[in-house]
Amino acid sequence: MRFAAVDEVEGDEALLTAVERARRDRLVRAEDRAAYVAAHLLARACVAQLLGIAPAEVELRQRCARCGSDQHGAPYVPGVLLPLHVSLSHTEGYVAAVASQVRCGIDVEAVRSEPPPWGALSGPEEAWVASQADPGRAFTRLWVRKEALVKAGVGSLEKAAALDVLADGRPADRAAGLVLQEWSAAGAVGVCAFGAH
Ligand SMILES: [Zn+2]
Repeated sequence: MRFAAVDEVEGDEALLTAVERARRDRLVRAEDRAAYVAAHLLARACVAQLLGIAPAEVELRQRCARCGSDQHGAPYVPGVLLPLHVSLSHTEGYVAAVASQVRCGIDVEAVRSEPPPWGALSGPEEAWVASQADPGRAFTRLWVRKEALVKAGVGSLEKAAALDVLADGRPADRAAGLVLQEWSAAGAVGVCAFGAH
């Protein structure tokens, strides 16, 4: 599990596949392209470390469980015999990636200043966010938990409010049987969810 600022990520952009390069090139903003590239290189680094191989040997693909597209969706590495779960995320200025033999999901989000989107939180979660000194960061701490859980295969973002990520009046470090590990920077928050299997 690794979280990093975009400019901290090392790696050779030439490792990207044709699909990744095409997707990168469709992003309009330079900072979005940089974050996309950094997240995909970081994911390769995580897989390489787990498998004990070089990042150049990691073939990263994506497949969307909903529409079958190879342009987005859960990353995977073809031809690996071990159970291997890969997840990646990027936001303004920050990226995150994880490779694990247990199911996992990772999310990083820039701290938002606008009010939470309607339907994102349960009533108790809304009340907790409103009670915090920094509601934007508080909301983001809950939201990345929900995103990470969904990426690990729990629930759905359409029913985000049903994903309960508050425990004992604070952001949970366990939910739905998964362990939630939080990472924090000045402008962003991230969470990685790890399952038992
Ligand atoms: Zn899709």
